[in-house]
Amino acid sequence: MQDFSYFCVMAGIYIHIPFCKSKCGYCGFYSLPSLKLKDRFLEALKTEIVMRKDYLQHEPHCGIDPQSPALEGSHGPTTINTVYFGGGTPSLLGTDEIEGLMQVIKAHYPVAENAEITLEANPDTLSPDYLQALRETGINRLSIGIQSFFDNDLKYLSRRHDSAHARLSIEWALQAGFNNLSIDLIYGLPTSNAEQWNRNLDIFFEYDLPHLSAYALTLEPNAILTKQIEQRKALPVNEDDALRDYEILCQRAKENGYLHYEISNFCRCGMHSKHNASYWFGTPYLGLGPSAHSFDGASRQWNVSNVEDYCDALLSPGRNSGASPTVGKALKEKELLSPEQQYDEYVMLRLRTHWGIDLKWLKREMGERFSNYCQQQALPLIAQGRLTQTREFLHLTDRQMLFADGVAEELFW
Ligand code: SF4
Repeated sequence: MQDFSYFCVMAGIYIHIPFCKSKCGYCGFYSLPSLKLKDRFLEALKTEIVMRKDYLQHEPHCGIDPQSPALEGSHGPTTINTVYFGGGTPSLLGTDEIEGLMQVIKAHYPVAENAEITLEANPDTLSPDYLQALRETGINRLSIGIQSFFDNDLKYLSRRHDSAHARLSIEWALQAGFNNLSIDLIYGLPTSNAEQWNRNLDIFFEYDLPHLSAYALTLEPNAILTKQIEQRKALPVNEDDALRDYEILCQRAKENGYLHYEISNFCRCGMHSKHNASYWFGTPYLGLGPSAHSFDGASRQWNVSNVEDYCDALLSPGRNSGASPTVGKALKEKELLSPEQQYDEYVMLRLRTHWGIDLKWLKREMGERFSNYCQQQALPLIAQGRLTQTREFLHLTDRQMLFADGVAEELFW
C-alpha cells in the first residue's frame, strides 16, 4: 500500500493562462472569454517570470521522510522539475508564444533536463500541425479537457467540441508523440446514466492512456450552469448520480490496472502528475500569472485574479516596473502559516491521496503534540469505518475518498 518507490516529489512552476474562447457553463475558474489582452499579458508574464526567479530558494518542506526513496532523483530545492501551463486554455497560445515563455523560464531557472512540462489543452484548439509544433517547444505532457465522449453531455456543459473532435484530438496527440497523455472526464451529469458513463470509461481504456483525471460535476456559485439550473433552464444535478459514477470509476480503474492515487486522479504505475503531486506533498511551487498561488514551504501568496490589474502591476509606466502582482484589491498579499494551519493543511492534502497521513512524519516534523492529537481524533473515525489505519498511515478507502473533506474536518486542529 505505502509504496513510494517510484514516486518523486519535486519543485515546480505553475503558469496560469487566463484566456478561453468562451465560458463553459460549469466553469468557476478565472478566465476571460477573449484574447484582446493576450499580448500585454504575455509581456507581463515574462516580467513576472524574471522578477520572481529567486522565490524557490528555500529548503523543501516535504510531506515525506527526507530519507524516503520517494526523493531519489530529486534535484534539490532550486531545480525546477515540473512546469505546468494551466488555465484557462493554454492551447490558445501559439506554439511560438509557448516557446518564447519556455525560453525565458529556462534562461532564469535551472530546469531539469528530464523535467515534466505539461500543457492543458482543449480539443477544439488542437490540430495535427499544432500538436507537431507543440512537441518542438519542449512540452512533453498533455492534459486534454475531453469531459465526455457524448454530444449530449458536451452540449449540457457548453463545451466547444463534439464527441468526434474529442476522439480526434487524442489520436492526433498520440500520433504527434505525446505518450504522456492525460484526459479529463466529468461524471454525475444529468444527461448521462450508468451505461453512458461506463461507455465513456470504455473509450478511455481502449486508448490505453497512462492518466485520467475524473471530476464530479460541481455547481460553482458563479457558474452560468448554476444560474440556469436555479431558473429551471437546465437539468438539475443529482448527488446520487455522482456517487454511482464514482463507484463505477473506482472499480473499473482498478480492474484495468490503474492506481487511484488521489480522489480525482488515476494513473498507470509511475505516470502520476509529478506537478500536481508536489501540491499534495507540500513541496514549494511558484505560481505565475493572474490568480496563481505560490508556496515557499512556510507561506502562501496569491496573485490578483484580474488580468488588467496583473498587467498594470507589472508593466504600467507610472509604477515601478516589476511591482508585485500580489498587490491587488481585497487580496491578502501573503499568509504565513501557523503550525496549526500547517497541520490542517497537511491533513487535508494527504487525506486526498492514496498514501494518506503519515503519523511518523507528523511526530518527527511537527512534534508529538500533533501526532498524538491526530491519532486521538482518528480513533472514532476508525471505529465508524470512515478511516483506516495501516501501520503509521491513516488513509481512506476508494469509496471514502469522495468524503475526504468531511473526514479531514474532524481531524483538524
Ligand atoms: S475551457 Fe476550462 S477554464 Fe475555460 S471556460 Fe471551459 S472549463 Fe473554464
